[in-house]
Amino acid sequence: MIDVSARPFVEFSPPLVGADEIGEVLAVLESGWLSTGPRVDRFERAFAEYVGCRHAIAVNSCTAALHLSLLASGVGRGDEVITTPLTFCATANVIVHVGATPVFADVDPVTMNLTPESAAAAVTPRTRALLPVHFAGRPVDTAGFRALAERHNLALIEDAAHAVEAVAGGAKIGTTADMTCFSFYATKNLTTGEGGMVTTASDEHAAHIRTAALHGMTRGAWARYGRGAPAQYEVVMPGFKYNMTDLQAALGIHQLASIESRLARRERVWRRYDQALADLPVTQPVSVDGADRHARHLYTILVDETRCRFSRNTLQALLYEGGVATSIHFAPVHLQPFYQQAFGFRRGLCPSAEMIADRTLSLPLSAGISDADVEHVIDAMRSLLA
Ligand SMILES: *Cc1c(COP(=O)(O)O)cnc(C)c1O
Repeated sequence: MIDVSARPFVEFSPPLVGADEIGEVLAVLESGWLSTGPRVDRFERAFAEYVGCRHAIAVNSCTAALHLSLLASGVGRGDEVITTPLTFCATANVIVHVGATPVFADVDPVTMNLTPESAAAAVTPRTRALLPVHFAGRPVDTAGFRALAERHNLALIEDAAHAVEAVAGGAKIGTTADMTCFSFYATKNLTTGEGGMVTTASDEHAAHIRTAALHGMTRGAWARYGRGAPAQYEVVMPGFKYNMTDLQAALGIHQLASIESRLARRERVWRRYDQALADLPVTQPVSVDGADRHARHLYTILVDETRCRFSRNTLQALLYEGGVATSIHFAPVHLQPFYQQAFGFRRGLCPSAEMIADRTLSLPLSAGISDADVEHVIDAMRSLLA
């Protein structure tokens, strides 16, 4: 019998968790305060400072962050929200959660991002919000989306699940929308296992989101049971259970402190892939403009069977046999069974996103993979395609 556990295998996105994170989690366990408390507060302040925004509100996922941002914008039944089909299903699911209709506009075939132009063509009298995604860590044209939002009086919410470190036209992501939503899921650039954050400049939106994230109560448990005087709360809306815990924030505080060195590591892996795979018959990610900064979350190649002699699915299977895990970002959301059935979306609605979805393959990329792993991926790719 072959011992598969003994062969070299490069995981797709192993998290890099250091001694500082582990020490902080132990300190939380020893502190006796496990849920939302002083470490969430510290993480929120540090995140707001890193982004350069007025408010940062920690929640238990990016999905929760998106849901609360739509609610704070007043999006509801009968409204339309324009987004990209080339995203994780959560981006669209939250639009359905608030009773609105997702409207999928096509992406640019080269940047793979939603553009203000394609979003503009999808605006109707019912449009209430724009929800672009910084796909793979590459920032969208935030100035273009801001102008479109102002022209039609729309809320602008950015899904920055891939893009904590990104900059668009010189402006830090997290400062360019009404609300920006980040993910700290296990595979993301900054991880708390599960977690998310909303950033906003608006005092009103921040207050709404903070209350809605914890049952609609006027005061959290730390304010009620912490060192301050005993305090009562009132329920001012039927809120959600979306709060982040101090255990998660303990990870986040130290993941944030080391975020630039982990980005630098992914940039080195990225450049190595760029250089070592350049002559292969696949399409590599394009570079970004000087005033933009790419957060290097996903290294997505396009596999065109007529050029490459393998289909994307065959190449993925062969790489797996060669000890390399890959992933697909994304099957287009409008073609998922629920979206086809509920809204009547069909293939052909977004040709560029569908072309990308049929061919895209994400290679292993994380600060947690070693140089030897990177060379193993390159060797596997070259032995199949060179
Ligand atoms: C991961 C992801 C989400 C959801 O993030 P969670 O923190 O898991 O809720 C949303 N949008 C995109 C583009 C993602 O990749």
